[in-house]
Amino acid sequence: MDSETLEARLRRVRERMDTAAGRTGRTADDVTLVAVTKTHAADAVLAARDAGIADVGENRVQELEEKVAAAGRETARWHLIGHLQRNKVRRVLPLFDLLHSLDSPRLARKLSSEAAEAGVEVEALVQVNTSGEESKYGFDEENALEALTGICVLPSLRIRGLMTMAPYTDDERVLRRTFAACRELQQRAAREVAGFSPDHLSMGMSNDFEIAIEEGSTMVRLGTVLFGERE
Ligand SMILES: *Cc1c(COP(=O)(O)O)cnc(C)c1O
Repeated sequence: MDSETLEARLRRVRERMDTAAGRTGRTADDVTLVAVTKTHAADAVLAARDAGIADVGENRVQELEEKVAAAGRETARWHLIGHLQRNKVRRVLPLFDLLHSLDSPRLARKLSSEAAEAGVEVEALVQVNTSGEESKYGFDEENALEALTGICVLPSLRIRGLMTMAPYTDDERVLRRTFAACRELQQRAAREVAGFSPDHLSMGMSNDFEIAIEEGSTMVRLGTVLFGERE
């Protein structure tokens, strides 16, 4: 990280969040900032906590395990934001508060059965691929509602919203379209899918978070803009 402090970066990010939220009649307090600490040492988690950030995101299971061990389970609300393999569900279940990347019915069934066995309820967002990019995980827009209908009835699994990732582009129309499609799916699911709780809409990264907030995001996942470029 360069010499600019996390506090200074955070202040500027919060201002930008506030301005974007204001355009939809909200404030920055209506949007949860998840600080993405992947590739950075566990110190980044402690620095985030000291700066007043309560939510931390990791995209890989092993790194989440290392950071939780080093920084402490109670130091933050931990978000697992990357693809999760089914064979890692059991060991990672106690380590996160919200999974953003539930991307298949098989993973949903595995989460449900492991959570039931452990006597806990697991909270997750269903990842949808509203950008249409082949390379992205998540349910296609066309299949998402049907998949959600099956997933939301599983025991010990609570679906609290949707997550999407936009393509890496500066084309504002493409970004808006991707985020708006996710918001519309969330609204439809709220009306049509029993058991679906439309609490969170996880959209927006360093490159596009203001547009995501303008399109209704309630949770942004920010790494670079807080901690600098990754190696
Ligand atoms: C790395 C990552 C982010 C944060 O990316 P930045 O561009 O550094 O803000 C957000 N979401 C997911 C799923 C990620 O893997």
